[in-house]
Amino acid sequence: MGDVKKSLKDIGSFMKLPGANLFITKTADLFNWANKSSLWPLSFGLACCAIEMMATFSSRYDLDRLGMITRASPRQADLMIVAGTVTVKMGERIKTLYDQMTGPKWVIAAGSCAISGDHYRHVYSVVPGVDWIIPVDVYVPGCPPTPEAFIDGIMELQNIISNGKSNPTFNSVDSERPNINDIKVKKKEILFNENFIDGHSLINKCKEIKSEGYDYINFITATDFEDSLVLTYLFTKNNNNEKVEINVKLDSSNKIDSITQIYPGAEWQEREVFDMFGIKFENHPKLERILMPDDWVGYPLLKDYKMEQAKLPYRPSREDYESWKTKL
Ligand code: SF4
Repeated sequence: MGDVKKSLKDIGSFMKLPGANLFITKTADLFNWANKSSLWPLSFGLACCAIEMMATFSSRYDLDRLGMITRASPRQADLMIVAGTVTVKMGERIKTLYDQMTGPKWVIAAGSCAISGDHYRHVYSVVPGVDWIIPVDVYVPGCPPTPEAFIDGIMELQNIISNGKSNPTFNSVDSERPNINDIKVKKKEILFNENFIDGHSLINKCKEIKSEGYDYINFITATDFEDSLVLTYLFTKNNNNEKVEINVKLDSSNKIDSITQIYPGAEWQEREVFDMFGIKFENHPKLERILMPDDWVGYPLLKDYKMEQAKLPYRPSREDYESWKTKL
């Protein structure tokens, strides 16, 4: 240690010089201050939350005043704001972008989808929280979060950085997280109980509906009520937009006649229902998978579909997610 008293005296003399300013701090604090005052976020968004993020960056809220300038290249960005639903397909791209960002780098998970998958948590194509892939520093709840919430999250990150406490947060270990296949699905009663017809009369009923002028088929969809599958058909009259709906409760064979001969537009809709629910449409001209690969195992929208059984790259297993993370 030098002569502290002398040093302070020298500083005192120095401060008397016109226009002189002296600032004493630790370099770590200086760097933290510089980092938190110049967060450069990567310019990208994933879903509806990104619209709210754009509003936050616009002139009304003006994030420039916090030293934030969005960057189009991950090489120049040190903050990733994950705003929107993270699909499995995008998950790998997000991880790549994160890897390409300059360090030190931070991540804000904005909105319930990015935090936990939200409504889509159990959907086969959605990652149940971006922290399954990359470490997250701050979580901003909301669906979507308001611009004020975004700013609050950013300021929270700034505080963490200023205090030198910006250790990235990693996912909790497996034992703390319930196995996704053990979560009981709430059983719902059938909400509609009218317009049901017998499956054997479907073709005749569709012919009758078409002869009445319902020349457009809006959709065919199915619902898994666990004890049975229910098919729903909706038809419209093009001239006055009048609609009619019919429902068919299937027996355990899960087979029904195809209506493509009457409504050609049903062709791909029946394929989609087959792909997701495994319902066999007899006499369909080409009943093949339409969204999933031909060798896909199981039908993703059935309640008893096992989340972990499907194949890469569409539904990685928990272990696959973990292996991505260890590569970071
Ligand atoms: S949290 Fe809500 S607003 Fe945000 S991406 Fe998900 S559904 Fe959209």
